[in-house]
Amino acid sequence: MDAMPVTSAAEETLDPSDWADVQILSHRIVDDAVAYLRDVRQRPVWQEMPGDVKDFFTASLPQSPTPLADIYGDVVDKVMPYPMGNIHPRFWSWYMGSSNFTGALGDFLAAIQGSNLGGGNHAAALMDSQVVDWCKQMTGMSASASGTLVSGGSMANIIGLAVARNTKAGIDVREHGVAAIEKPLRFYGSDQIHSCHRKGMEALGLGNKALRRIASDASLRIDIQALRAAIAEDRAAGFKPACIIGNAGTVNTGAIDDLRALAKLAHEEDLWFHVDGCIGALIAIAPQNAHRVAGLEWADSIALDPHKWLHAPFEAGCALVRDASAHRKTFAVTPEYLESTPRGLASGQWLHDYGLQTSRGFKALKVWMALREHGVEKFGRLIDQNIAQGHYLASLIEAEPALELTAPTSINIVCFRYRAGGLDGERAKALNTEIMLRLQEDGIAAISDTTVQGRHCLRVAINNHRTRREDLELLVSETVRLGNEIASA
Ligand SMILES: *Cc1c(COP(=O)(O)O)cnc(C)c1O
Repeated sequence: MDAMPVTSAAEETLDPSDWADVQILSHRIVDDAVAYLRDVRQRPVWQEMPGDVKDFFTASLPQSPTPLADIYGDVVDKVMPYPMGNIHPRFWSWYMGSSNFTGALGDFLAAIQGSNLGGGNHAAALMDSQVVDWCKQMTGMSASASGTLVSGGSMANIIGLAVARNTKAGIDVREHGVAAIEKPLRFYGSDQIHSCHRKGMEALGLGNKALRRIASDASLRIDIQALRAAIAEDRAAGFKPACIIGNAGTVNTGAIDDLRALAKLAHEEDLWFHVDGCIGALIAIAPQNAHRVAGLEWADSIALDPHKWLHAPFEAGCALVRDASAHRKTFAVTPEYLESTPRGLASGQWLHDYGLQTSRGFKALKVWMALREHGVEKFGRLIDQNIAQGHYLASLIEAEPALELTAPTSINIVCFRYRAGGLDGERAKALNTEIMLRLQEDGIAAISDTTVQGRHCLRVAINNHRTRREDLELLVSETVRLGNEIASA
């Protein structure tokens, strides 16, 4: 065969015309990126974007080329100074990890290789399965379980709920649909359950009402007696109890349901036991706190979130299912254009048989590189560190007369408020909201708020490997300072 011509004037490509130029610019980008992360503590957590920056993002579809160096200049000016802020040591809003440089390199290299994780016989597919295996090992899931990396915890939970539905429906739901289910299915979780379960129930055609919210107790854990009673009541009323969803760390307060008791009850009642472990499943690797999630290893399915306590750059979630064949049966379809071959690229396992996506990004590399660099023991210690910081912050708040805790601190989430001497509900909420906004706008700290058992509060979730105790001390003193300032204005 004749050698192919090395260059062609006829065809276009997206590759650079001068690789040497791109190399120089890329080195600069990497240098800037290292400095960006190294100096993050010196910058505000978050800052409002000026009008011209906001306007910049309304420019219409580019028709003609722009030099890459100019584009990068815009990124430097308009994008990098205005982050969400979750890589900052004083970001504690909602619940998310703080990323890491090695993970960012992994994302870059994954994109350079560009592999699609639908399946096939290539290294990214093997690594994807390996990271799923590591997730099984970290959570104590049996070696024969199956799993898949997905966009995040919401998708991982939906996968668990879908397998639960199909396994417990008593009919072939895939073929006949939910309308053919004889007795309507019921799922159970506490009143602290994450909103993604509602979306899941809706998307699965079961409906929001089929998810019964069971009261939580004073420590925000599901009331097992109330759950038992609800299951009996539903059976008597002609429903089919199908699945218990346990919280390994609720998003409001970090409460961990009694997973052993839930596993036992699910077993007795012949229900699927799914654990939402987006926050807490990985506590299983933390030596000082692993006992809190005992029972996790008995789950039929677990949702966990490597972009939370493994600090993978967004996104990376993982669904694990004990019964691999039930998992596969829920999603596997082999169309004529995706048949496997005895050898070659299509001889590997088709990984899209375990979820809804066909194409899927190479999420494993960023998780794999960081786990290898640090080892799982260090990630476990960092989880212990965040939980100890949560309790330290709670102790600072208890020692500060102007502040009060509003819910028990179980792990790394602290709910509290500025007291403002006997202010009523709405006024207390307005004052505390103002404190939260000024902490953000002054670039001091990012925290969020919530309402727990009817009481509004400020909420700090320390899922951050850069946070130090001094950051929490600053939060307390600034909260008191701002609270006093606003209250006396
Ligand atoms: C974060 C979280 C989710 C949703 O996970 P995403 O990764 O944001 O999709 C679900 N449940 C709990 C308890 C969470 O903390």
